Amino acid sequence: MAKKAVVVALGGNAILRHHEVGTAEGQLANVRRTSQQIARIIREGYPVVVTHGNGPQVGDILLRNEMAKDTLPPMPLDICGAESQGMIGYMLQQSLNETLRAAGLDYPVVTVLTQTVVDIDDPAFENPTKPIGPFYTEAQAQDLAEKKGWKMVYIQGKGYRRVVPSPRPIALVEGEAITRLVRDGMVVIAAGGGGIPVVANPRGPLRGVEGVVDKDYTAALLAGLIGADDLLILTDVECVFLNYGGPDQQPIREMTVAEAKQHLAETHFPPGSMGPKIEAAIRFLEAGGRRVVITSLDSACDALAGRVGTWIHP
Ligand code: ADP
Ligand code: MG
Repeated sequence: MAKKAVVVALGGNAILRHHEVGTAEGQLANVRRTSQQIARIIREGYPVVVTHGNGPQVGDILLRNEMAKDTLPPMPLDICGAESQGMIGYMLQQSLNETLRAAGLDYPVVTVLTQTVVDIDDPAFENPTKPIGPFYTEAQAQDLAEKKGWKMVYIQGKGYRRVVPSPRPIALVEGEAITRLVRDGMVVIAAGGGGIPVVANPRGPLRGVEGVVDKDYTAALLAGLIGADDLLILTDVECVFLNYGGPDQQPIREMTVAEAKQHLAETHFPPGSMGPKIEAAIRFLEAGGRRVVITSLDSACDALAGRVGTWIHP
């Protein structure tokens, strides 16, 4: 029997790691490593849809806009998001094509520039929580908060970061297009950076808004939309932990939705990092998904086979 689809959600570090400066060559090298993992999953016989974060890239695009603002008008966040989907989609598309061809796997690869419908009355617009861009020292963070009115938060062990509103995704404007491409056997890259947040006016056109939809929530929506069995969330930790970062941290190998909800309520999974992954997992599994796996990029294929990572079941 044919395997059911897997949605692979790549963390920002699958393309640009925090300690790297972000040259095109460096990002392409990471994307090639990522493509090797994705190709292994496709070789196992799973139809694959890839989605990805864009935090580091959109951070760089914003910084570039900021530095050039006396010469060129800075672009709003939705257009920066589109730019990041294009650049990451291009790198993934080219590299996946190459890797699949080298492995003798003949699948067309296509990127769908995706808009994600959000609710303009989403409470997130009143309470920014999504970290974007680089990490700053306390002094830099204070300066940016004063000069630019940015809201900054401290992330345990890593430093300060800007936060923007993170509304929940309601639907994908390109949902039908994505579904048909998957049905036709294509490897689809979609909803990069969680998709470009847009609000729907019942009478008028869609309008982009300043915010970032967490790619983990959009990944869950996407997985439900295409009827995937598995959602594979790849990040920079091998598995999910209880008491993460503390002296008594404990790896979680498996948990049920009920256990995930309990740990979430006990604040083991902070908003803006592990929290959205666990909430996305819960949402996907409650909507009929079979399994969510959270692990690091290099363990992707092994985690699907059950050797590493954290598995979450209904
Ligand atoms: P991504 O780009 O993959 O979405 P995030 O930074 O948003 O990456 O989320 C992954 C991070 O979540 C890890 O690097 C880790 O520092 C953090 N984290 C927070 N709580 C936990 C936890 N309970 N278990 C594992 N990682 C956690
Ligand atoms: Mg994240």
